[in-house]
Amino acid sequence: MARDSVLADLGAKGADGGAARELTEAVRRYRIDGASVRLADHDPGGTGPFTARDRGLARALLRAHTAWLTDRQRALAAQGQWAVLLVLQGRDAAGKDSLIRHVMSGMNPQGCDVTSFDVPNAEELRHDFLWRYHRHLPTQGKVGVFNRSHYEEVLVVRVRPEHLRSQHLHPSLIGPDVWDRRLLDIAGFEDYLTRNGTAIVKIFLNVSKEEQKERFLRRLRDPAKHFKFSPSDIRDREHWDAYTEAYEAALGATSTPRAPWYVVPADRKWYARLAVASILVHAIAELDLDRPAPLLADPETLQAARAALEDA
Ligand code: AMP
Ligand code: MG
Repeated sequence: MARDSVLADLGAKGADGGAARELTEAVRRYRIDGASVRLADHDPGGTGPFTARDRGLARALLRAHTAWLTDRQRALAAQGQWAVLLVLQGRDAAGKDSLIRHVMSGMNPQGCDVTSFDVPNAEELRHDFLWRYHRHLPTQGKVGVFNRSHYEEVLVVRVRPEHLRSQHLHPSLIGPDVWDRRLLDIAGFEDYLTRNGTAIVKIFLNVSKEEQKERFLRRLRDPAKHFKFSPSDIRDREHWDAYTEAYEAALGATSTPRAPWYVVPADRKWYARLAVASILVHAIAELDLDRPAPLLADPETLQAARAALEDA
């Protein structure tokens, strides 16, 4: 589907066409196209073409995007040939959970699976590192969201060596090249998936160190938010620069035309949600969803069933 027709569709769903176009142009710049990535070049505070005063407009645009997704998810499910995987990565308090709630709000729960990946369990640690992620991939016709993902295997596992130690690997398998090999394996895994009908969209929610501190403090001051806080959040914050390096290596090594990474500014949640909705809309628009689904019955059987019901 051409970009112009998506924008026209969004307009029909109540969005301001000009703003939707400017947003599309802005999010294109978040895509990683080269192998060398410096997060310092990406402003976590960006709000694309909008200012804080445009929040009403941003809300209307988000509604138009979720309405578009509702409609196209139906086509995706009916056709049953493509799967869509949204990979969400970000540091603690980057806004992953609330983004899922807002961007996926129009989706039919039957066609959408969200999987959150925590520290692996004993069984998972006895398998190859991609096993547990592969098991949760969306099937044809569905949308899958990974809240954290296989990328943790080259992020937290890289920054905190105790995780690698718990993976029961022979010392000959964990030499200095282990991370580059994993990145190659991940790129190969994603290539394989895209060649087999899974469209992959990868988002890094780029929150600043200052904004993360504010969000942690808000969680700690409000008892209703205490459940969100984990002591590992502070430990990971102490390793901020090591995570930056691990992210830069991962984004650079695995952003491909088929499975690109987007570094989305995340200090303003209202904008991050809208940017991710726009990225998802344009990725789904690339799929040929209007080709009719293969019929389970031949036309004569359908006709006979209809005649039998009408005569009954
Ligand atoms: P949260 O996303 O805040 O619920 O936290 C999940 C925690 O699980 C984070 O601290 C992640 O770093 C951690 N985690 C996720 N995947 C892995 C993994 N493969 N190995 C070790 N820790 C992980
Ligand atoms: Mg956390």
